[in-house]
Amino acid sequence: MTPHPSPLTPASSQITTRFAPSPTGLLHLGNVRTALLNWLYARKHGGCFLLRFEDTDRDRSEQQYIDAIQDDLMWLGLNWDGDVLFQSEHARNHTEALEKLAEQGLAYRCFCSETQLNLDRKLATSRGLPPRYSGRCRDLNAAESARRAESEPFVWRLKVHADAGEVIVPDVLHGDITFALRDLDDPVVVRSDGSFTFLLPNAVDDAIDGITHAVRGDDHLTNSAYQVWLLQQLGYQPPHYLHHGLLLGEDGAKLSKRSGSHSVAELRGDGLLPGALFQAMARLGHPNMPEEAHNVVALIEHFHAELVSTSSVRWSDEEMWRWHTRLLHELDAETVAPMIQPYLPAVSAQRLTAFASLIGRNIERTEDAAHYQRLLDLRAPLDADALAVIQEAGGDFYQAALDAWYDTTDGTDGRDSSEADWKGWAAAVKAATGCKGRGLFMPLRVALTGAQHGPEMSAVVAFLDEYGEKNAVAIRLADAKRLAES
Ligand code: GLU
Repeated sequence: MTPHPSPLTPASSQITTRFAPSPTGLLHLGNVRTALLNWLYARKHGGCFLLRFEDTDRDRSEQQYIDAIQDDLMWLGLNWDGDVLFQSEHARNHTEALEKLAEQGLAYRCFCSETQLNLDRKLATSRGLPPRYSGRCRDLNAAESARRAESEPFVWRLKVHADAGEVIVPDVLHGDITFALRDLDDPVVVRSDGSFTFLLPNAVDDAIDGITHAVRGDDHLTNSAYQVWLLQQLGYQPPHYLHHGLLLGEDGAKLSKRSGSHSVAELRGDGLLPGALFQAMARLGHPNMPEEAHNVVALIEHFHAELVSTSSVRWSDEEMWRWHTRLLHELDAETVAPMIQPYLPAVSAQRLTAFASLIGRNIERTEDAAHYQRLLDLRAPLDADALAVIQEAGGDFYQAALDAWYDTTDGTDGRDSSEADWKGWAAAVKAATGCKGRGLFMPLRVALTGAQHGPEMSAVVAFLDEYGEKNAVAIRLADAKRLAES
């Protein structure tokens, strides 16, 4: 994967997808999925993936979100092709499209007030009819419409609704979806403040940008019907759509802050590996993605858009963090060392790397490295459970362990066989104390590492021998004795 956007421009025959966020907030799980599916589709087919900021809402669009979204996409490895596109740069095209539709009598000014519209809707509902626009302003003649526009507020609507006819949304996942025009409304495309709603600029930009496939949530299905209609009236070829099922929270509710959505910024702050979000997300609603396809190249290979579920899918933090642990365990110690450093006392790079190599498979998240701090710093605080183990073992146990350590190893550093050291030492402690099994190993492990689980004890002894301070094992045993007796 290229680390930076490549300077490609889409060729017309090439599959071209896009991610089209509005820069009005941070990237969240829901839009990560859409971005990822568009990216995978393009990469799978050797096509282009474009990034287009839909920034026509001037009041709510912010540069900080434009920057943050790009940064998060790059972090995830979702590199886009060519320059970043901005919808606002096509403002002229949007106005021209509207003018063209108006000239053809396919768009019209609507002067109905909110109160009037509410009343109409209530009336329709009370008659058991769908709450569609009544059509009051549909047939105003051009002169009257222009005259009223000088003094009255108005919106622009598209003249879609009709007694006969249909519009077909070509969808790769659903097959063709047919909408009868009689079931569609006359949607508003320009608000009373003159700003465009989502429908027209989004569709016109897809046409201008050469988008061949638009992957998006099925909450856009009806929008697509309007957009296909609109593009056809303007003489454009509509893109193929892939309307995927929505991403729900863990509780099955629409994904929101309350149902457990996260911003990418938040997950990055939690130390998540980008690959973990990538893996968990790419597999959602995509059956038969083999577990071993755990790098991006393999994921692309096994990705088949046609398999992407049209039903909603549930997010799982647990699954994402499971991937995090798995990928963390695949990293080498040199890579892990700087990641765990923030949770540890300052030590030399060499010692940190050896530490990372020792405990790398025993942590699920980078911050878990702190559980093993005692290996680096005797003054690291012990948690209550560890202290309880030490106190239960008692001072005599640690005195015996200390004596056995000197007897079996001479207490010298730099021995050649830690495995033999550990075995000989453990046997001697057993003989001296009568302790065995857990009662023997746990107090020794806790004294040396501060934790009740962890790497093989022979590896612990080897690490302390080589990278610990002088007499590292002995001083930890002496400290445990002191704690047991305090
Ligand atoms: N700006 C739109 C959104 O964020 C784009 C939707 C689409 O993918 O077409 O919902």
